[in-house]
Amino acid sequence: MEERKYPFEKITTHLITSGFVYPSSEIYGGLSNTWDYGPLGDACKNKLKKIWRDHFVKTKMNMFEIDPAIIMNPKVWVATGHVANFHDPLVDCKHCHARFRADKLIKDQKPELDTDGMTTEQMDTLIQSGEIKCPECGENHFTPLRQFQMMFKTFIGVDENEASVAYLRPETAQGLFVNFKNVQRTQRAKLPFGICDIGKAFRNEITPGNFTFRTREFEQMEIEFFFKPGEDQQWFSYWKDECLSFVNKIGLKMDYLRFRDHEPTELAFYSKGTTDIEYYFPTLGWGELMGIASRTDYDLGRHQASSSQDLTYLDPETNQRYLPHVVEPSFGCDRLLLALLCDAYDEEEVKGETRIVLRLHKNLAPYQIAILPLSNKLNDEAQKALWPLLSPVFDSIFDTTGSIGKRYRREDAIGTPYCLTYDFDSSKDASVTVRDRDSMVQERVKIADLKAYLATKFAE
Ligand code: ATP
Repeated sequence: MEERKYPFEKITTHLITSGFVYPSSEIYGGLSNTWDYGPLGDACKNKLKKIWRDHFVKTKMNMFEIDPAIIMNPKVWVATGHVANFHDPLVDCKHCHARFRADKLIKDQKPELDTDGMTTEQMDTLIQSGEIKCPECGENHFTPLRQFQMMFKTFIGVDENEASVAYLRPETAQGLFVNFKNVQRTQRAKLPFGICDIGKAFRNEITPGNFTFRTREFEQMEIEFFFKPGEDQQWFSYWKDECLSFVNKIGLKMDYLRFRDHEPTELAFYSKGTTDIEYYFPTLGWGELMGIASRTDYDLGRHQASSSQDLTYLDPETNQRYLPHVVEPSFGCDRLLLALLCDAYDEEEVKGETRIVLRLHKNLAPYQIAILPLSNKLNDEAQKALWPLLSPVFDSIFDTTGSIGKRYRREDAIGTPYCLTYDFDSSKDASVTVRDRDSMVQERVKIADLKAYLATKFAE
């Protein structure tokens, strides 16, 4: 894959300086690899979530969205194996003290090896053999590999002891499984049906970084879709197609996307298949955006065994009881947004100057329209004529600072699809000039027609 046109750092610098993302707790020196979404990033992320909801929940007849708690009974994480197994293999370079995830270190230098199929001992032996070099200093002296628990621990109540330990959820999925019976019963749901949510997850990653690609606190959009055992292949293909249609809908460029089926050696013993959708990030290369996993009845089975509750489904057609099987499409909201912003960033020469344009999908742009009075003398008039009319319908910004040219550039750089300029003729002809972000073509439109005109544009 040839290198992307704009380096990752150029894009992320733009996102920070224009108000999409800020370093978290910045006035206290920040907290490493922790980010806050600014007004533009927050707006964009909310729109991404809305499109996800429209696609996967609103237009589906058998999907139920819930909002489970972040801190769950710790027995949940014992049942799923997270307490025992949710570790990352860690090594330090003895020479320069840089820290690495052992599996990533091996994967980067020996891509032909399947690290998911390797035991801790096999990875350690390889790293200690001298074949793997420190990417920072080039030496090959590493500490022995050790496992690092990735769940954030906390304590419930006043006493901080083993009995009061709880965890911040490392994925939202388990909140969906433990509510299977609640949703099925209260919503009178019949198989096949899905339960989904959007929410924060927390992982004490040892190598966070690459901006919002890998952070310790992130947002997931997850679905557990339950069905009759035996229909696994059919639903796995269905959800792969649905996910592809969703990434198409939000405008991700297909050139930089690939579906990667996990090799049989990478699959957990209970899994009938896993596919990742990966994206070719500028400078960073391929990275996982989401996964679709066919997980049989493993999760419900574990929870049934650990909780001693009956989680089976009574099939109304056959009168049989069984544990449903599940397919899990799991999106990372932050990574998806980052990919969209990387795709959207563009520069072009206009009259000898560089114009930055965020060519975001129109329905993902933080603001849909910018209302720009041509002169400060027109501010009140423009506000009265346009703000009450348009702001209830369209996400709008009213900007009066700087020359009109500068304001157009500013809106281009944050992806606003349409600028509406109110000029000295506007009160006479009851019209404004509408400028298109991508083509820069300007059109005179009657104020009375604006709502319908813009609605058509956003429906395209
Ligand atoms: P990775 O291999 O990159 O650590 P994963 O396979 O552990 O990811 P999953 O457990 O499948 O990730 O989580 C589903 C999705 O959640 C991922 O595809 C990704 O988009 C997102 N995600 C996981 N970990 C992080 C993180 N630390 N920061 C941001 N997003 C994340």
